[in-house]
Order: sequence, then C-alpha cells, then structure tokens
Amino acid sequence: MSNTVQETPDKSFPCKECGAFLTFLPGSHSLTCQYCNTINDIEVSNEPIEELDYLSFISNAVNTEAKIEIRTVKCNACGADTSLKPNVAADDCAFCGSPLVVNDAKISNILKPKSVLPFKIEQKEGLKKFKDWIDSLWFAPGKLKKMSQDQRLTGMYMPYWTYDSTTITEYNGYQGIHYHETEHYEDAEGKRQTRTITRTQWYPASGVVQNHFDDVLVLASDSLPREYADALEPWDLHELVPYADQYLSGFKTETYHIDVKQGFDQAKNKMEPTIISTIHQDIGGNEQKIDYKSTNYNNITFKHTLLPVWISAYRYNEKSFRFLINGRTGEVKGERPYSTGKITGAIITGLLVLAAFYLGGVWGGLTMLIIFLILLFAVFK
Ligand SMILES: [Zn+2]
Ligand SMILES: [Zn+2]
Repeated sequence: MSNTVQETPDKSFPCKECGAFLTFLPGSHSLTCQYCNTINDIEVSNEPIEELDYLSFISNAVNTEAKIEIRTVKCNACGADTSLKPNVAADDCAFCGSPLVVNDAKISNILKPKSVLPFKIEQKEGLKKFKDWIDSLWFAPGKLKKMSQDQRLTGMYMPYWTYDSTTITEYNGYQGIHYHETEHYEDAEGKRQTRTITRTQWYPASGVVQNHFDDVLVLASDSLPREYADALEPWDLHELVPYADQYLSGFKTETYHIDVKQGFDQAKNKMEPTIISTIHQDIGGNEQKIDYKSTNYNNITFKHTLLPVWISAYRYNEKSFRFLINGRTGEVKGERPYSTGKITGAIITGLLVLAAFYLGGVWGGLTMLIIFLILLFAVFK
C-alpha cells in the first residue's frame, strides 16, 4: 500500500494544433489557444463528486487516497505555501507582497482535490474592480492611487474542506413564558398610579433535536484572516466540477495547512449557531435558556476542494495590505491605509470653518465652508 502520486499540476498543457502553452480562460470549460484559436477540451470525469467518510479517513494510518505532487515555496514573511509556475526565476508572495526565495522551492504531496470551482471573473475585470475600489477611498495616501495603476492581481485557488453531517443534540434547559402584572406606585406628585409589568415564568424543558448540514465550508489555510475569507462567501458550490489539472493552468494554488481533523473542529463552530437556534425553536415559549447540551455528529463526510480568489497584496510604509475578489461572483474585500496628513488637514480646515463662523459671522463662516468642501473633494479624497 503506497500513496498514489498523480501527475503534477505543474505540467503544462500544449495546444493540440500548434503546441503553444495553454492557460485556463475564466468563465469557460475549455482551454482556448490564444494563437490559433483551437479549442482544447478539458477532460472531466462524469462521475459525481465523491465525498469521503470522515471517521474511516482519520482512523487510517496509511491513506490510500490519491495525492498530487506540487512544487511549492514558503514565504519567509507570512508563511503562505503556494505553488510556482514551471521555470519561474523570481516571484512575489501573493498574500503579502514580499519577494519569494524561489531556490527554496520544495515538492509537497497533498490530497488530490475532489472538485474545483473554476475562475469565472477574468483578470481584466478584477483589475477594474481594484481600481474602482481604490478610487472610491477617502483619505487614502496619494501614492496609493498612483501605485494601483501598475498593480497586479494573482489568480489563486484557495484550499477548502467541506463537511456534511447529521447531528443529534440532547439538551436540558428552560422555557420562559411572559405574563403581565399590574403594579401600583406613587408618581412624583404623590398621586397613586398603576402600570403593567412583563415578567417571565420559567419551566424546565428538555429534548432531542436533529440538524442536517451540507457543505459546511472551512478554509484550510492561515494565509488569509478567517474574517476575510468568510467575507467572500457565499460561493456557488452547486457549480463545482470534478477536479482536472487544466483548470489550474496559469493560476497559483495554495496547499492546505489545516488538516481534515482540525478543519472539522472549525466546521463544528460553524454548525453551532444553527444547532442552538434549532434548540430554541424546540423549546418554544417567549424566552429560552440552555443549561446543558451534547451533540453527536453522525454520517460525517468531507471533500477537499479549491475555490478561486483574485488577490492583490501591496506594501505601503513597510506594512502589507490585501485586496481580494471572489473569482466567481466579483464580491470584493479590501484592506486600506489612511493618510494621516490628509486626515489632519481635514480636521484643521474643519476647525477653521468653526472659527470663521464664530469670528466672521454667517458670511465669513459660509465662505470658509465652501473652501472646506472644495478642499475635501479636491485634496483629501
Ligand atoms: Zn494553438
Ligand atoms: Zn507572504
């Protein structure tokens, strides 16, 4: 029993007509040659996307699941492990913008993805979104807008685990029922008044609830803060296709750092709010309290999948900032620097406007206000 190492996605795909190097064109399901226009179909298996049984997978010391080999380089600055294109001599890390030491590249064996969500948004469209986003920022350093002119976007397939499970949760708690009481009191003038107060009567409650979870997504990498990755959701997972190396041609891939087991712990956290809300519904009444609960996770299955993200990492004042686009929907999430000079300028001008109203009356104030608004749009934006 040995690991089956499949062909590496590092390999290039030559055009069947002219031999040119083919890259996957977002939005398509084929490799179209940019030199001779020949359509090179991607061979995709017709088999349904298989999910693996979680318990038997993690209890197997030697795993017979298919692996793929990829040549990766680790970023010394942020720790991201990404694939390299064949024959690259120099590259920057897509996650933080630091230069990569390509000589340190190593071969990693990773679990072959079962499925992939191919890129749909083209780089051109992504760059336009990036530029629009930069232009829309208030109080951004002027240098940033200039920098965005020649900023590159990297197309990156991010590793994810998805989990399915049917959960059975036993619980004990209380159901709260509201009732109203009339209370007498004396008002400030010493008159006798009445008012109605809502109180809660608590009754013990217990039961068992069941939930079914389908495709709970967990990012299998630390290279993006989890909140950023979550901000790219939702993904159109019903469009997943069986994995084929060709979809990765021309794009980078990150290897997973969070294993199947660690990933499932994260999946449990994502399931928790749904389980709690099911218990609340089961308890009913006006208010609910849960004292104790215990969940069994049954029929756990999982798969390894790749999702497409356009990334731009730019460095400004020794700090790195990231801009991300969901490669399917175009949903944008960005980090931005602020210009302290512009903010200070705006505050000082604002104070001058107030001073002008105070000293120069309405007309002096209005004049300064107009100057302030002009400055705001012309300089500070
Ligand atoms: Zn060709
Ligand atoms: Zn990095």
